[in-house]
Amino acid sequence: MTTFIDHEYDVVVVGAGGSGLRAALGAAQAGLKTACVTKVFPTRSHTVAAQGGIAASLGNMSPDDWRWHMYDTVKGSDWLGDQDSIEYLCRNAPDAVYELEHWGMPFSRTDEGKIYQRPFGGMMQNMGEGPEAQRTCAAADRTGHAMLHTLYGQSLRHETEFFIEYFALDLIMEDGVCRGITAWKLDDGTLHRFKAQTVILATGGYGRVFFSATSAHTCTGDGNAMVLRAGLPLQDMEFIQFHPTGIYGAGCLITEGSRGEGGYLTNSEGERFMERYAPSAKDLASRDVVSRAMTIEIREGRGVGPNKDHIFLHLDHLDPAVLAERLPGISETAKIFAGVDVTREPIPVLPTCHYNMGGIPTNYHGEVVTLKDGNPDHVVPGLMAVGEAACVSVHGANRLGSNSLIDLVVFGRAAGLRVGETLTAGADKKPLAKTAGEQSIARLEKFKAAAGTRGTADIRLELQKAMQAHCSVFRTEDSLAEGVEKVTAIAGNMADISVTDKTMVWNTDLMETLELDNLVAQARVTIASADNRKESRGAHAHEDYPDRLDAEWMKHTLSWYDDGTNAVTIDYRPVHDYTMTDGIEYIVPKKRVY
Ligand SMILES: Cc1cc2nc3c(=O)[nH]c(=O)nc-3n(C[C@H](O)[C@H](O)[C@H](O)COP(=O)(O)OP(=O)(O)OC[C@H]3O[C@@H](n4cnc5c(N)ncnc54)[C@H](O)[C@@H]3O)c2cc1C
Repeated sequence: MTTFIDHEYDVVVVGAGGSGLRAALGAAQAGLKTACVTKVFPTRSHTVAAQGGIAASLGNMSPDDWRWHMYDTVKGSDWLGDQDSIEYLCRNAPDAVYELEHWGMPFSRTDEGKIYQRPFGGMMQNMGEGPEAQRTCAAADRTGHAMLHTLYGQSLRHETEFFIEYFALDLIMEDGVCRGITAWKLDDGTLHRFKAQTVILATGGYGRVFFSATSAHTCTGDGNAMVLRAGLPLQDMEFIQFHPTGIYGAGCLITEGSRGEGGYLTNSEGERFMERYAPSAKDLASRDVVSRAMTIEIREGRGVGPNKDHIFLHLDHLDPAVLAERLPGISETAKIFAGVDVTREPIPVLPTCHYNMGGIPTNYHGEVVTLKDGNPDHVVPGLMAVGEAACVSVHGANRLGSNSLIDLVVFGRAAGLRVGETLTAGADKKPLAKTAGEQSIARLEKFKAAAGTRGTADIRLELQKAMQAHCSVFRTEDSLAEGVEKVTAIAGNMADISVTDKTMVWNTDLMETLELDNLVAQARVTIASADNRKESRGAHAHEDYPDRLDAEWMKHTLSWYDDGTNAVTIDYRPVHDYTMTDGIEYIVPKKRVY
């Protein structure tokens, strides 16, 4: 039998990105014994890479109102977002930003010393009527860096205990209740069991399932896969955001803030083609719309470069002083990764996987929900999720730029408040079952012993290419069916994997294999969900079903995965039917035009 080192907490947060740190801070503030377990050092979490900003209707630079922010978010979600969650997000956003400001986050400033705000895609005044709202609060183009360091500093003021470079393996479930997690300490190879009254998953997205992604190599959605292995479903996994401006070839992000500051896209004829696709919002239409327009331009032969396979982003008409002050980070990135001086030349760009709208279904307190005995809102005891790992669902079928950073802090805070209300410190006296965690050790041992013919990097590349080819900006019946077949075959290939390093100390070969196994499970449910949804909505653009079909499809996809048989099961949760208590009414579905 494996020996575990045992730990006991009231709350265990897995993940130290923006959402995990904010949740851990809140739980500790509520007097609960709190641990934060993370596979990378907290300030290396992907949140650090966020550029453009964080949305909140402060109204510092244009008139604004949280109801307008709510309207834009509902419209951006293509009416798949849950309006109760969206109300919670937008109503609480200004306070969440002021909290960050009071904690010392170094925002850029207006001349009067207020927080600087820039326009972002799909953000308007007057319930979508316009003109554009300047709603995105920014610290130059390094907002995530400023935010994550602020949150890490603050979380150290409280009693949160950090377990850094511990790789979480699995949830410990007993009779449908989550009672903790298992983890592998990477630097000495020891195995750990964390008992908790509540586990909060804040493990981020799984962008690395695609070949071209703006996300860090660590973004493998481990928490999502832990949920699947626990027999629980993920939600809306078919909705993947492709950011219009990843650097051609490298995939690194050029923030939407660059178009917010006046940048624009051109095709091989030098035409500002967005005027044809989104006559009023133009280059600041929402991301799915811009990515599709760029893909159509390339397909119709108007791409730039020798292979006519990308698009130009121009910043060269902007004042170099503005570029230096507001967009220093991307100016540097463009120089390093595209060899371009942004003050003189356009940047070669291409739509690139950027964000996962889908994830672990939760309510707006952060509690994980599932469909059980006909109840679509059954709360899973002991389990919560926040951040990009969660699907709360505020982003629905398409997230608006700068709405993720605000999601992290608003719902991270909500989760902290919820455990504060529902838990009593030290209340759980029941020990874990003796066998708790053995299954996850069996999985680890299986991969450690694996002596097949295929390398991890080799299978991963095959998976990423299949997802890129069959599940990206545009989808068709035939291509999705082929993708389902390919990804199922790749899942089968995991039985033939080989792990050469047989030790437990800093075994990156084994860690990457566990991450790949997590990616495979998510790829299976993603492509199966995409194949299943016979309509187009937000980021899911199905060419054989070009219209949004509300009567049949205004519902969340739930997907379960059986990793023994690689089979996916699909069911649904309704989008929340919602009437507000005050303020504005339910925002009724309309055609989405920009
Ligand atoms: C380049 C880039 C720029 C962006 N810019 C913006 C922007 O300007 N505005 C905006 O709103 N959004 C932006 N986004 C999106 C936003 O940054 C992310 O959605 C968000 O930061 C995710 O935060 P998170 O807390 O959910 O997870 P992350 O920050 O991804 O952190 C995940 C955490 O989970 C931990 N973890 C994962 N797996 C395990 C495991 N197995 N065991 C232990 N720990 C684990 C990691 O160690 C890490 O601490 C951007 C994204 C990218 C990629």
